[in-house]
Amino acid sequence: MSAQILDGKAVAAEIREKVAAQVAALKSGHGLTPGLAVVLVGEDPASQVYVRNKKRQTVEAGMNSFEHVLDAGTGQDELLALIDRLNNDPAVHGILVQLPLPGQLDEDLVINAINPAKDVDGFHLENVGRLSTGQDSLVPCTPAGCRILARRALGDLTGKEAVIVGRSNIVGKPLAQLLLADNCTVTIAHSRTRNLADVCRRADILVAAVGRAELVRGDWVKPGACVIDVGINRIDAGNGKTRLIGDVAFDEAKEVAGSITPVPGGVGPMTIALLLANTLTAACAANGLPAPTLS
Ligand code: NAD
Repeated sequence: MSAQILDGKAVAAEIREKVAAQVAALKSGHGLTPGLAVVLVGEDPASQVYVRNKKRQTVEAGMNSFEHVLDAGTGQDELLALIDRLNNDPAVHGILVQLPLPGQLDEDLVINAINPAKDVDGFHLENVGRLSTGQDSLVPCTPAGCRILARRALGDLTGKEAVIVGRSNIVGKPLAQLLLADNCTVTIAHSRTRNLADVCRRADILVAAVGRAELVRGDWVKPGACVIDVGINRIDAGNGKTRLIGDVAFDEAKEVAGSITPVPGGVGPMTIALLLANTLTAACAANGLPAPTLS
């Protein structure tokens, strides 16, 4: 039997519509327009595409978009001075520094210079700490998107066995916190995990966030499991072209799983939708308004 395909594009569009409706209500009711500042250092082509998409979708949601494109050779002090200005600008409710940064810049220092209340990526130590201690925080966008898709597939996640392959600070670890908060039994697997296939076979929710094309095979999937594929791998498609595939061997896994996200069109579109949601949340919090409900 073929799995239910979890259409992240459609769910993301639904979230963006809700964000846009609440932005319109904020404007008319409170004269408030949420603003997102995106900082891009250098000319990494993938980052340029992300930043363009973020800008377009921010504007489509009715928010202000402030874009700061800095030279690849920008120094630490110059970047920190820009962040300080954005931290103090009342029109800016969310600040996102596009990663990776060029080698001369210290990513940890830069991220932790962002006002945690404007840290819409949820990477600041204060937000990481708040998330891991169960307090309200700005939550990293990709993991938040994964959790929404898992909830859409399975409903209440209480008691589910979740296995997350990948222990990065931006996906694996924060997603583990979110699934723990949803009462899952969580295992984080990684490059040093022994018997990875066996560990994966335990999972009711199997998340692959590795960056290795089709690492997770169909026979690693427990029948009926919900499979969330975060991986984005560009491979040679022959005829001089490339295409994107995930960390899961989709054609194999879809014959075993109960539900599965495609790549592209699964987790990817959720990330920007959740970024807009975080910007709206930050704008509400900055103005003493209740947090919006969006998912
Ligand atoms: P990362 O490189 O920071 O971490 C990869 C993790 O995978 C590490 O924890 C490592 O231990 C683990 N790993 C590596 N090889 C392994 C193996 N053979 N077996 C088991 N585990 C292994 O990566 P990341 O930033 O978390 O990104 C992971 C993937 O998700 C990438 O393809 C990235 O492009 C994608 N991604 C997608 C989105 C999105 O919006 N959809 C967002 C972030 C990342």
